[in-house]
Amino acid sequence: MHHESGFRRLEQFDPEVFGALESELTREREFIDLIASENYASPAVLAAQGSILTNKYAEGYPDNRYYSGCEPVDLAESIAISRAKELFGSEHANVQPHAGAQANMAVYMTVLEPGDTLLAMDLRCGGHLTHGSPANFSGRLFRAVHYGVDPDTEVLDYDRIAEIAKAEKPRLIVAGASAYPRSLDFKAFREIADGVGALLMVDMAHFGGLVVGGVHPDPVPYADFVTGTTHKTLRGPRGGFVLSRAEHCHKLDATVFPGTQGGPLMHVIAAKAVCFKEAMQPEFKEYQKGIAANARALCEKMASEGFRMVSGGTDTHLFLVDLRPVGISGREAQDVLESVNINANMNEIPYDPTPPTVTSGIRIGTPAVTTRGMRPEHMDTLGGLISQALKNPADQKELRSVRALVKELVGAFPLYPEM
Ligand code: PLP
Repeated sequence: MHHESGFRRLEQFDPEVFGALESELTREREFIDLIASENYASPAVLAAQGSILTNKYAEGYPDNRYYSGCEPVDLAESIAISRAKELFGSEHANVQPHAGAQANMAVYMTVLEPGDTLLAMDLRCGGHLTHGSPANFSGRLFRAVHYGVDPDTEVLDYDRIAEIAKAEKPRLIVAGASAYPRSLDFKAFREIADGVGALLMVDMAHFGGLVVGGVHPDPVPYADFVTGTTHKTLRGPRGGFVLSRAEHCHKLDATVFPGTQGGPLMHVIAAKAVCFKEAMQPEFKEYQKGIAANARALCEKMASEGFRMVSGGTDTHLFLVDLRPVGISGREAQDVLESVNINANMNEIPYDPTPPTVTSGIRIGTPAVTTRGMRPEHMDTLGGLISQALKNPADQKELRSVRALVKELVGAFPLYPEM
């Protein structure tokens, strides 16, 4: 297989699209990526994802397809399924959801009827759109009710969640979030669910890799369903998956296909298998510990620079900075950081008084910088540079000097040298 020749053809035939790929490679190399949901997939993952497996239709499941010629892709999907089960210790795995949103949809459509009650984390406290936002199918099809964080401590109050569950009687409780810096207590969630006869789904889209690394508590022993993505802390291809208890396997599989999706993306499924194999290597655990150590180091440095950390810190790969003490909005911070070659996203802080297009906060995550090889001592330097930029958002001279130092820092951590 001659991958490089494909890129040569692309360059000749379609210089415009090739140009976008080249610009993206330059951007990834020259920017520090602190977007908590992003990472850099390995060349092996990229090779599988960019492969001829994209050509194959394979509606159905291994050894039970609606098309002929599926033996090779059956092999790829069977490997992905067995590795997912082994990696997470689950009874069943479905690796076909195209992304995290589809994984969540699959579970909802497996256990809920339209109008049924779903209890999940409030979007404004760190939950995800697919956790019942009115802008999303999950809020339109189901009766979504929400729990938030305690306004004073900014952490989950499990007694309060139990009260809401008793009052609302959900059929499904969802634990997991996009912007919650603390680890979750799955035993507490299980007890709350059992107390009201609800099923429990954990959405580990963000922290799946940390679970493998033993850095975050493991949801699998407690949850009826666990959904995840492969492209965040797991550092694989863009995609989703669902783990479940054996009793739900047939219904779940039927909900993914034919219930909510058509043909599976076999190239992505092969790349998920590669991702799971990478996650089984001993160094992957070290990588995950490195992510958490870097998040702690960067968070502590920024706190020492006078920024307020939501909930006072982090247990995970991400933290949320309340920018109000330095008098800058999340949007301004995102733009200023971009101007010095740092990408991080504006984010609401809990009970944020400003609209989601402005926000008072910024979300910072360390999976990508850890993949590049950065360590806590580099987080100290980086935290200083972020602080310098955010405290001088209108000083072009200062920003130019920060940008030069950021370029020097990333220059020491080459990305995709083989490309
Ligand atoms: N669930 C959570 C908690 C997420 O943070 C995300 C993505 O950010 C998703 C689900 C959806 O994943 P995707 O963007 O792959 O659809």
